[in-house]
Amino acid sequence: MDLGIAGKKALVCGASAGLGLACAQALVSEGVDVVIVARTEAPLVAAAAALAAGGGGRVDWVCADVASEEGRARIFVQHPDFDILVTNAGGPPPGDFRDWDRDTWLRALDANMLAPIALIKASVDAMMARGFGRIINITSSAVKAPVDGLGLSNGARAGLTGFVAGLARSTVSRGVTINNLLPGTFDTARLAGNFEAQARREGLSADVVRAQRIAKHPARRLGRPDEFGHTCAYLCSVHAGYINGQNILMDGGSFAGV
Ligand code: NAP
Repeated sequence: MDLGIAGKKALVCGASAGLGLACAQALVSEGVDVVIVARTEAPLVAAAAALAAGGGGRVDWVCADVASEEGRARIFVQHPDFDILVTNAGGPPPGDFRDWDRDTWLRALDANMLAPIALIKASVDAMMARGFGRIINITSSAVKAPVDGLGLSNGARAGLTGFVAGLARSTVSRGVTINNLLPGTFDTARLAGNFEAQARREGLSADVVRAQRIAKHPARRLGRPDEFGHTCAYLCSVHAGYINGQNILMDGGSFAGV
């Protein structure tokens, strides 16, 4: 299927690794010109080189923290306009809400709620003026099924979800859709880190924790980042113009609800 977006320009945040990188990969392979962003320069440059070597759209990178105003400004000074925006940043740490002070909450809100809102604010009016735009926020399955111990993520992402639900209804008549993609358990460095942390807590090996998680999953496997990336690219396509304001759960059927 031709997604009809070759030659469009995309900003993909949190894209030197994991799900963001997979989204960038899928868009580049569709001929989209992509700007990738992450905070650490060496892996970001390596990711850009690998993307460019695969052929397709052009690839550029900006080393920036999307959770900071200064970092976001650096992106838009170099690249003022995008047709496609994929917002993403690292998830907040787990813990007990009794230990979290105001600053802890503000860090989570900055990265996982206010940064995507600021990125949308910087892009959406120009998209509407041109009559085409696709905005995808990478959030979490925790939006559908909040997890005790991930309260910072549950809270910040719920705030973004509510905001997007309102805004999306006011942009779609001008060709701009806004949707959230909710990953379940995808095989990325972050998930491996979670398995290692759980293994330390429970006195097990990370391989055992991983095997236990897979055994309990209805799909009997973890999600592959490329599956996530291709779904993101489809939602960015010309064919997805009537999918708007949705929370699209990609968890292999793990959420036991209708
Ligand atoms: P990952 O493998 O750790 O990759 C995260 C990427 O984002 C890296 O490129 C990282 O590079 C970049 N990044 C992190 N914070 C950033 C910031 N403030 N500004 C710019 N770039 C930033 O993570 P992932 O597994 O792909 O997860 C992506 C998102 O999905 C996270 O929010 C995660 O909580 C959420 N999620 C993932 C899963 C899963 O199964 N993998 C499940 C539920 C939710 P630098 O560190 O160099 O910046």
